[in-house]
Amino acid sequence: MALEKLGKALNSALKKLARSKTVDEATIKEVVRDIQRALIQADVNVRLVLQLTKTIEKRALEEEPPAGASKKEHIIQIVYEELTKFLGKEAKPLEIKEKPTVLLTVGIQGSGKTTSVAKLARHLQKRGYKVGVVCSDTWRPGAYYQLKQLLEPYGIEVSGDPEEKDAVKLAYEGVEYFRGKDVDVIIVDSAGRHKEESGLIEEMKQISQAIKPHEVILVIDGTIGQQAYNQALAFKEATPIGSIIVTKLDGSAKGGGALSAVAATGAPIKFIGVGERIDDLEAFDPKRFVSRLLGMGDIEGLLEKLEELQKQQAVSEEDLEKFLKGKFNLKDMYAQLEAMQKMGPLKQVLQMIPGLGYSLPDDAVRVGEEKLRRYRIIMDSMTEEELEHPEIINYSRIKRIARGSGTSTAEVRELLNQYNQMKKMFKSMDKRKLAKMAKRFNF
Ligand code: GDP
Repeated sequence: MALEKLGKALNSALKKLARSKTVDEATIKEVVRDIQRALIQADVNVRLVLQLTKTIEKRALEEEPPAGASKKEHIIQIVYEELTKFLGKEAKPLEIKEKPTVLLTVGIQGSGKTTSVAKLARHLQKRGYKVGVVCSDTWRPGAYYQLKQLLEPYGIEVSGDPEEKDAVKLAYEGVEYFRGKDVDVIIVDSAGRHKEESGLIEEMKQISQAIKPHEVILVIDGTIGQQAYNQALAFKEATPIGSIIVTKLDGSAKGGGALSAVAATGAPIKFIGVGERIDDLEAFDPKRFVSRLLGMGDIEGLLEKLEELQKQQAVSEEDLEKFLKGKFNLKDMYAQLEAMQKMGPLKQVLQMIPGLGYSLPDDAVRVGEEKLRRYRIIMDSMTEEELEHPEIINYSRIKRIARGSGTSTAEVRELLNQYNQMKKMFKSMDKRKLAKMAKRFNF
């Protein structure tokens, strides 16, 4: 897969979000930081990364999720939309309008130009076009044999002459040859002897004058990362009919940098190269690309599962058992506080039962999101034993927990007070009535 490493890093940032208990400002900032790190490691330009992540953060903090969507889903959607825009937004497919359509490919030596010409010829043939390929690479006579070897098994003819030294003449004669052959598309592979942009653009101009292509395609090596920006920009400025193939996106650690750098110039990326085989070329569609990169199928499934779980777990039978027996530890309290923050069913049910007479003290079961987050931080510094048996938490433990979690002893005490208050409340309930009610409501 293209950009596998980047995809994994982005996917794990979103999975972390999906798994987090609450979505507050700190969670959003953490996700944004993970995305930043992933993109910078893929060699995406730092300024572009900051712009992108600032937009994601702003939208995630300010926008309300649409009806029916959770905050988490909404944030994933925002990340998806912004990354898609970042890579050019809409697909710009290669159009074959006239017969024959003449395409000229240019690229720096070693960029993958010859391979891409063969891949493109095969791609078009699979879509029903008759294709002819012209090799005007006078610099590397091997290119002609390389093309023939790749394309002849598919019945695609290659024109060229490894002895000829004049690239413009080769290109012109090749195009004329195929004009008489009733082909739909003629792809011209240029000389490709250049190591930098200026020579490349000069060659493109000379050959263009001779063969008047409908489109010039620049092949850029994806492994050069954000350096692709200068090449793409110089090319875009030199021709109004240019589009781009970014190659070697399989396994390249810098491919994300190359793709985003090219997109930033506004030059259309039409294909990406994703392997050495002739079929390893994909038409580039930012939407499809990003959703595959993020593993959206995966994320969506995960979200659904989580929601189901939340629904089921708001009050489980096991929880109720614990309450009824007066066994109730800090972990249970946290789960309950969280459930009740979302107006969990226990509170509603208790209040709906006429005659039960329990009107829950609001501040015993409701805490704000921010407080819940602080509780989580404090609890992360407790030992398993302390979570299971909070009664063992003495003053020296309180001091250690406060230090470990970067909070204060007052905050740790507040958490313990909340716990004791809730525990007392559950203990004081009429167990018989509660059990009956539980049956009636099918917990
Ligand atoms: P040219 O000098 O630009 O014509 O480059 P070539 O087409 O000969 O390709 C240079 C090398 O890059 C060859 O070894 C190709 O197999 C390899 N290559 C081209 N495209 C891709 C790609 O998308 N993925 C991978 N992994 N290798 C590629």
